[in-house]
Amino acid sequence: MVIGKVLVILPVTFLRKLVEDILKNYFHDISLVATVKEALSLIRSGEIPDLIISSYILDDGDVFDLLETLEKEQKIQKVPVLLLTSKEDPELIERALKKGVLEVILKKDIPKKLPKFLKDFIKIIELQNLEGNILYVEDTNLYIKFLSHILEHTKLKVLSFQTVEEALKAFEQNEIDLVITDYILGGGDSGLDLIRSIRENDTREDIPIIVLTGYDTPARRIELFKAGADDYIPKPPLKEEILIKIFNHVTKKKVLDRLKKKLKELESLYIKDPLTGLYNRNVIEDFLLKEFEKAKRHKYDIGFIMADLDKFKEINDKFGHLTGDKVIKIFAQIILNNIRTIDYGIRYGGEEFLIVCPHMDYQKAISKAEEMRKEIEKTDVDGIKITASFGVTSLDLHPDKSLEELIGIADQALYTAKASGRNTVKFL
Ligand code: GH3
Ligand code: MG
Ligand code: MG
Ligand code: MG
Repeated sequence: MVIGKVLVILPVTFLRKLVEDILKNYFHDISLVATVKEALSLIRSGEIPDLIISSYILDDGDVFDLLETLEKEQKIQKVPVLLLTSKEDPELIERALKKGVLEVILKKDIPKKLPKFLKDFIKIIELQNLEGNILYVEDTNLYIKFLSHILEHTKLKVLSFQTVEEALKAFEQNEIDLVITDYILGGGDSGLDLIRSIRENDTREDIPIIVLTGYDTPARRIELFKAGADDYIPKPPLKEEILIKIFNHVTKKKVLDRLKKKLKELESLYIKDPLTGLYNRNVIEDFLLKEFEKAKRHKYDIGFIMADLDKFKEINDKFGHLTGDKVIKIFAQIILNNIRTIDYGIRYGGEEFLIVCPHMDYQKAISKAEEMRKEIEKTDVDGIKITASFGVTSLDLHPDKSLEELIGIADQALYTAKASGRNTVKFL
């Protein structure tokens, strides 16, 4: 991940190239200067960096000259500074940290420690832009305040609750991106109960959960992970650890959400017919087969209606394909208006439609078909009269038949309707 700007103040040595090469992986804008003067003039010209990396000794002074000047500049007071030094001098390090330096890295450690520092640093920068809701379940005010405090400069919202009951209610009512929970809570139920309840939730069982607790034993950890916790942080938590973990989990969740949404869109493209908005035959293999097996298991009926426009070839021949398409769309719309949300309206062939109605017996299916037949008979498209024929059957009429066979029987019934003069409903 590459983010904004970094200003490097380093006298020209072999180190410059090394630092620059590492930074290239993290920043798209790198300014390299050798003196305090150059650094200040760059900053004053409006180039506010996201990070300043400075060597202790500079060509025209040292890092403290820079820090003292920065302190006086309103705009850049808050820009974090990373100090690179060749001296392992505790006094110098302490003085630098007191002056507000974020981190000190010894020059010999640069290859190992700089990439790691930058990785964490970038996560914290990104954390500031990350949006989402955190459900925090904690009965100690101190920790509630702590978490709110460390997330103060981010766009993450913390909803905190003291009991599992309140937390679960909030979980149902809000879009939650991460749950952080204590183990021992007021109100009887523990963090473990909370995790189990969330993991039982059908639609949101994969929301990340971090346990933040003082009762830290290996057995407890295993118990929590088994119940479905994703992560574990012992109390008292390190600010950096908690920030990075929050970032990782919320980001992962957001990526997953996006993927799921894409998958849903693809799925709906795969099973929808673009002309009519009805399902296409792909719905049969997946969804209908499941529905069919459910009906057999729970012993309820399913009605099948196969419908086909009468003498449609003539309409195409006389009025053209576009008018034909319009007729098909109107037919599909009539079907859609007449079915329930639990029914499946499927464009089975060109102008042939299959309607599958769970929890509907054949008599009800016949009257449903009859209603549609009458409505089509009444409809004219640009002055053209249309009619359709219907074949009906149901699972209870043929309890030993497969889904495919039942669709075949509805088709045969349709054939019977065609043979007996069209514009009629027959069942088998
Ligand atoms: P029948 O009463 O026996 O059903 O007569 P029919 O003429 O309707 O016969 P059939 O159902 O076999 O004919 C279907 C015709 O529908 C064949 C094809 O030209 C036409 N067709 C199929 N798909 C489309 C489509 O998407 N748009 C248009 N305009 N016509 C289609
Ligand atoms: Mg507690
Ligand atoms: Mg036809
Ligand atoms: Mg046909």
